[in-house]
Amino acid sequence: MGNSSVKRIEHYIDGRIVASNSERRQDVFDPATGAVSAQVSLASVDEVNAAVASASAAAPAWANMAPLKRARILSKFKGLIEKHHTDLATAITREHGKVLSDAMGEVTRGLEIVEFACGIPQLLKTQFTDNIGGGIDNWQLRQPLGVTAGITPFNFPVMVPLWMAPMAIATGNTFILKPSERDPSPSLIMADLLKQAGLPDGVFNVVQGDKIAVDALLHHPDVKAISFVGSTPIAEYIYTEGTRRKGAYPLRVQALGGAKNHLVVMPDANLDQAVDALIGAAYGSAGERCMAISVAVAVGSVADKLVDALIPRVKALKIKNGMEADAEMGPVVTAIHKAKIEGYIAEGVRAGAKLLVDGRGLKVDGHENGFFLGGTLFDHVTPDMKIHQEEIFGPVLCIVRVPDLAAAVKLINAHEFGNGVALFTSDGNTAREFSRRIEVGMVGVNVPIPVPMAWHSFGGWKRSLFGDTHIYGEEGIRFYTRYKSIMQRWPQSIDKGAEFTMPVAK
Ligand code: NAD
Repeated sequence: MGNSSVKRIEHYIDGRIVASNSERRQDVFDPATGAVSAQVSLASVDEVNAAVASASAAAPAWANMAPLKRARILSKFKGLIEKHHTDLATAITREHGKVLSDAMGEVTRGLEIVEFACGIPQLLKTQFTDNIGGGIDNWQLRQPLGVTAGITPFNFPVMVPLWMAPMAIATGNTFILKPSERDPSPSLIMADLLKQAGLPDGVFNVVQGDKIAVDALLHHPDVKAISFVGSTPIAEYIYTEGTRRKGAYPLRVQALGGAKNHLVVMPDANLDQAVDALIGAAYGSAGERCMAISVAVAVGSVADKLVDALIPRVKALKIKNGMEADAEMGPVVTAIHKAKIEGYIAEGVRAGAKLLVDGRGLKVDGHENGFFLGGTLFDHVTPDMKIHQEEIFGPVLCIVRVPDLAAAVKLINAHEFGNGVALFTSDGNTAREFSRRIEVGMVGVNVPIPVPMAWHSFGGWKRSLFGDTHIYGEEGIRFYTRYKSIMQRWPQSIDKGAEFTMPVAK
């Protein structure tokens, strides 16, 4: 509830902004100043139902449109994202806090999925067997599911929706986005660009909201698939609740959860490269990335050298308003999140880890009310400590010392999360053994943040992903389509008569 003069961020249903009639709303902050920049409406069940009705009405015509024509709309959307790249990035920085150059990169990574989806005619192609016997031919179709929905986290308000929506739409589904209530504005910019690209009304809708909107989508019988990305407890809830829905057409769910990503530094690694990688991957985006490195695993003799190299670098981080050109790290997303991270730092000290750099109490000139935290570095962290077991999702790097590679692999494989992992080494055999034995979904060898490209699907293992399919790429095509096998026999061919014009798709 609150001040009615503050800008309202609304829903986008059936091709237009819809002012909410719900009294429920939530403050949206500029994390750099701490000021309330807007209030986002929180949808009621009726408002979610209106979005589903619009998406249902638009579904048959969209599913029937030739994939090439759907691809042309996405191709225009791609051009519009390029044109509005800075607008989208600015909207991210103003509500999320990450530095503008990082937000620009986020948009680029999302754009790559749109580019991939533009190839949908090729991607939907299946196999054909001429004459399986008796004049019968056999082939497959990949058909859309109907209305699909995506529920996304605060940390990538453009990229994660673009992991989902272009794939869902290209394959002939309609889509409802429920963005994070903490940074909701970019969702409406994307809706507007899709409309400008020629997307028919109802094919892409946005409902702003919280658990009430999520539950309404989960339990609506016309919603056929849900993609979720967020923290593990919610991912597990969405998966369990969603897949409980029985019947002829159960809900299809992919739910990507939280992470605790390790970077192993071998004694033979190039130390300068490993330190650069750790600084960027641990403190970039203030550690609020599901692929952020939050644990450095120092193997054998490398530990002391690593610590000595990291301390001055963490202290030298340029932490300021993300809109400033030379900022390396911005604020964290909200005051509540900042307090949670500070709680973890206190917990690490209590548990006996050695606090080498303490980011608490940082003040940034001119931004005294911003949600800033300095880079934090712990040494002598042990596997049983909470700061190793739980996802902190802030600029906190923990160093765990282990004697050898086998101990590093054991430590990582025992962790409940398995999203990303990295190994820095100069030995090919070590890299190969590690890649084969590690129980993590995405592995980087001398690559700190191994986020697969658009045509290689993204996803973790263990409690970092619930469901069978990873997101985007070919796994995304499978997730958003149903496979149908057709066998057909014709007694005689159909005579269409002569046509003298160049045949084109009609
Ligand atoms: P979150 O789980 O709090 O929120 C994610 C979405 O779920 C939001 O849209 C939110 O409105 C909704 N939600 C929140 N509480 C809910 C509830 N009780 N019931 C139903 N829906 C609810 O996550 P977040 O804080 O926005 O994002 C950070 C988390 O996302 C981190 O854990 C991070 O690791 C994870 N993440 C994972 C990946 C991945 O690919 N695995 C990618 C990005 C972020």
